[in-house]
Formats: sequence, C-alpha cells, structure tokens
Amino acid sequence: MKRGMTSSFAWRRGLHGVLNWVFPTDAETCAVCGRPSLTTDAAPLWQSPSDSSRLCPFCVQDLERCRIAVECHALQVERAPYGRIDVYSGIDYDAFVRTLFRSFKYDGVIELAPFFSHVLLACWQELGEAGCDCVVPVPTAADRMRKRGYDHVRILADMVADRVQLPIRAALVRVQRPGGFTQSQTAKNAQLRRRELEGGFVANRERPIGGRRVLLLDDVATTGATLAACANILFASGAQSVIAMVAARVR
Ligand SMILES: [Zn+2]
Repeated sequence: MKRGMTSSFAWRRGLHGVLNWVFPTDAETCAVCGRPSLTTDAAPLWQSPSDSSRLCPFCVQDLERCRIAVECHALQVERAPYGRIDVYSGIDYDAFVRTLFRSFKYDGVIELAPFFSHVLLACWQELGEAGCDCVVPVPTAADRMRKRGYDHVRILADMVADRVQLPIRAALVRVQRPGGFTQSQTAKNAQLRRRELEGGFVANRERPIGGRRVLLLDDVATTGATLAACANILFASGAQSVIAMVAARVR
C-alpha cells in the first residue's frame, strides 16, 4: 500500500488520467457535484496543480468559504493521566461538509485530501508547542480498505506528517467483527458506540508505541468514542501523551 492507496486503486486512477489525456473530448466532470471541472487560473492555497482537475470552480469556491475556526475540547479517556485528552477540530460538520466527507470517504474523491489536510494543519498551528513524536492515524478496517481501495485517514495522515515533519506510526489495528461495529456511526448514541468499540481496536505489535507522545488523527469526531477507544489503547501500550486532531466535529 502506497500513501494510503492499494495498488489497484492507484492504477485505476492513473488509467483514468491517461484516458482523459488520449480522449480529451471526454470532458472531466467535478468529482463532488458532477458539473464540468473547468480549470481555474487561481488555484487555492491548499491545492496543487495536479489535483485541481476533478473539482469545479463552484466547489473550489465553496471550499474556500468553509470557515476554519479551530476549537479544542476535552474528551473523557479512562486511561489518560487526567482522565481526558484534548481534541482539536477545524470545521463544523454541516450539510456541505457532510457531502464533502461522503465524496472523500466513499466515492474515491481523494482530491479533497489537500483541503482537509489544510484544515488539520490549522489545528496543528493551534497546538503550539505541544510536543508530539509521531502521528498515529485511526485505522480503517481491512475489508473497507480492500473495498474502497484507499484509506482516507491514512492519506490525510501522510500529508500532515510530511508538513509537520513527524513520522507516521501505525500503532493501531482495527479488528474486524462480522456485522459489528463498522456499521453506520452517526445513528448510534455515544454510550452504545463506546460499548461496541471496546476491543474494536488493538495495539499493533509490530509498531509498539512505547513512551512516545502521540498525535492521534481522524477525519471526523462524532461522539468521540472512536478517539477515546484508540487513546485508551495507546495509553495502555505505554504512550506518554495523546493529543487528537480531527478535521471536523459533529456538535
Ligand atoms: Zn463541483
């Protein structure tokens, strides 16, 4: 797996690009809304020229209007030294952001990754001098990874880790349970989710966390149950500290 993508997913994307180059009449459409994705001269700050192709100017404009306001809230984590960890988030999970995440997570629109990593980097700036030794992404279940061809959180983690110059440490593994906790998350209440997620993650024995200071990274925080479960395992495996960062937070 390279940079959060399976080789077949990366290959399909490459082929798509080649086909569009060979048959330019096959106009590109926006990966989010389906409108033609005309190239814009003024690319937004967070976008590199190579990933501007599949978003239309309207969606780029909408993204630019997304207000980034970094917030920090405390999340209860049993094993944390003070019983809680800080969770930083950059944007609200409103209807527009929900659409974006759906495209990013389920429809292969990884062109949105630069935007979300831009949001996460804004959170990083707010962290100030808080020391971190490594980035630990919340892992995606292996069957989902196979089905979708990419791990959207890992893609974000790679981008953020590059920018903040920290190594990625895949210290967590998601345990698969048939028909279990990987169902719809938002529909469930916090208590139920916490119970279901207990044991949903395990420490990766090949990547022990030791006494490291962890920057735990995920896309969205809904009830916080996922982050709490992961942080508990990290502390149980000897992590010195855990700070969490998510792009969006559901209120
Ligand atoms: Zn669009």
